[in-house]
Amino acid sequence: MNLRIGNGYDIHRLVSDRPLILGGVNIPHHLGLLGHSDADVLTHAIMDAILGALSLGDIGHYFPPGDPQWAGADSLILLKKVHQLIQQQGWQIGNIDSVIVAERPKLKPYIEKMRNNLAAVLQLQPNQVGVKATTNEKLGPVGREEGICAYAVVLLLASQ
Ligand SMILES: [Zn+2]
Repeated sequence: MNLRIGNGYDIHRLVSDRPLILGGVNIPHHLGLLGHSDADVLTHAIMDAILGALSLGDIGHYFPPGDPQWAGADSLILLKKVHQLIQQQGWQIGNIDSVIVAERPKLKPYIEKMRNNLAAVLQLQPNQVGVKATTNEKLGPVGREEGICAYAVVLLLASQ
């Protein structure tokens, strides 16, 4: 089999006194995401999708929340490590599609920069990295701005 598909999901709580970082972009907002690393929920969902495609478990296995090594970590660096892991196993990324669900702030101005950041780390063209943003129509915890979640799917291709 020379194709594999993976899907990933993540959610983090919104709190004050934290930066809001999505796809490696620091976005001005009065709330930020709580987490052991920089809590970049989009990058985490993509990492889980990549690992899931090869049944390698989830990011908690590789970067345990209790490990001081990853406190405040730049998630793009964690993504790079995950990418190296799949390259070592003979796989490359065909494309990624993702969606961020956030009631606020408006993310459209930052989407292109997120795609460029992710593509650069993964040695892809930006047109191989889809990032979309939507609201939850004020429904549920995401709609009440208690958190932001992200979904991602990734297609892996065998390198040989
Ligand atoms: Zn996360």
